[in-house]
Amino acid sequence: MKPLAGPAIDAVKNGDTQFVPSHFEKTYFHWLENIRDWCISRQLWWGHQIPAFYCDDCGETVVTKDNEAFCPKCGKKMRQDPDTLDTWFSSALWPFSTLGWPEKTPEMDYFYPTNVLVTGYDIIPFWVMRMMFSGMEHTGKAPFDTVLIHGLVRDALGRKMSKSLGNGIDPLEIIDKYGADALRLTLVTGNAPGNDMRYSEEKITASRNFANKLWNAARFIRMNIDGHDVRNELPAELTTEDKWIISTLNTVTKEVTENLEKYELGIAVQKLYDFIWDCLCDWYIELTKARLQGEGESAQNARMVLVWVLDKALKLLHPFMPFITEEIWQALPHEGETIMLQSFPTYSEANDYPEAAKEMNMVMEAIKAIRIRRAEMNVPPSRKAKVFIAAKEQQTFTNGSMFFKRLASASEITVADSFDIEGAVTIVTADAKIYIPMDELVDKEAELKRLNKDLESAQSDLAFHEKKLNNAGFMAKAPEKVVEGVRASAAKAAEKIKMIEAAIAALK
Ligand SMILES: [Zn+2]
Repeated sequence: MKPLAGPAIDAVKNGDTQFVPSHFEKTYFHWLENIRDWCISRQLWWGHQIPAFYCDDCGETVVTKDNEAFCPKCGKKMRQDPDTLDTWFSSALWPFSTLGWPEKTPEMDYFYPTNVLVTGYDIIPFWVMRMMFSGMEHTGKAPFDTVLIHGLVRDALGRKMSKSLGNGIDPLEIIDKYGADALRLTLVTGNAPGNDMRYSEEKITASRNFANKLWNAARFIRMNIDGHDVRNELPAELTTEDKWIISTLNTVTKEVTENLEKYELGIAVQKLYDFIWDCLCDWYIELTKARLQGEGESAQNARMVLVWVLDKALKLLHPFMPFITEEIWQALPHEGETIMLQSFPTYSEANDYPEAAKEMNMVMEAIKAIRIRRAEMNVPPSRKAKVFIAAKEQQTFTNGSMFFKRLASASEITVADSFDIEGAVTIVTADAKIYIPMDELVDKEAELKRLNKDLESAQSDLAFHEKKLNNAGFMAKAPEKVVEGVRASAAKAAEKIKMIEAAIAALK
């Protein structure tokens, strides 16, 4: 084995082949530098049969490529060794035997050496190093330039899946239940090269929910373009929110491409997930609704931007969720037979709108802050309230007033340098100070009464748990788990008291 191991070691040492992450080279070198000859015959009924022939009469052995052999000494038909070479041998041939080797074919010329071998770290000694030395020996070149190592999928508790533990999953069952895309997305999400990951039903449910979210967004867009002639291109006139989504998508495109080039699949898919879920579905689609209800150019422009952005998002997501992206893409205005043959989106300086993105972010920050405060105060979205915004960038907030009405339950927007308002809830963001008159949000007396009642109940809860914890008899006798439970309940009650007191303070 030593003569075969040498060139395989050199190919990684001189950088012809690199491991991602690189520390897995150590495993590879360890095996090859300490290599020993090993028995290569196996008693299996499939695989490449060993090309050795024996003469049962005189004991002669012949090794030949022919399918049969006759004894060179006594002329008798020889018997082929019934054993086969092990699986690794067939696998090691794969990178070049599939391309027509040993013939010199155009495929061999074009595709060999191949690019990336993707495999688990437990396979490095069994396949990777054997593919390497076989490739070097038979073709003089390493069979791939990169070995991307992934981890093992473990169960939710981090244990290796095994038959004896009964903690394995059947991928086909999961696919039936949640879809192949959901399983694929789950396996990529949170995944870093070389690290093991934990599989859980919650994760796959979250992936399925994402697929539903995307599907519903696409359905909304289709419903709105139905009956209109919408081309997949950007309109000449763009609003601030159009520029914001285009610019954000442009940045995401750039970052995702960089991540993919570094094999950071988990980071890439997280960025796409966030863009599609938050930016496209939760914000941009909501922001377009008013325009879509209207007629004319503004509505048509919104349709065009929606189609253009969704088309790009689908192409970026396609490697991670191939089926749903193809299905949706086919239903949108498109050219070409399949999304699989489309070019991957690229970053374009022309689609950068840093000013518009900044303005939109200011408005979105303010809307988010208002929503959070209203939720803390238990104000239902149906209760509209006047909103006063003190800001330096007054035009930005004035332009966004429609969004405050639709997304922050504002009845009226007033923008100025500053305000002096008595009895208002104030909300501060990086770019604005927002005032909402208290009586617009809540019936103060009723709210105080309700909060005080909640406070009393939380205080009596806390007293009940603390009494137990101060009872020496209980503490001596109760099992650890029960004591833990009481402590947790006491902490929860204390936390609740804090929140209610804050809400009361906010009302005063
Ligand atoms: Zn013989």
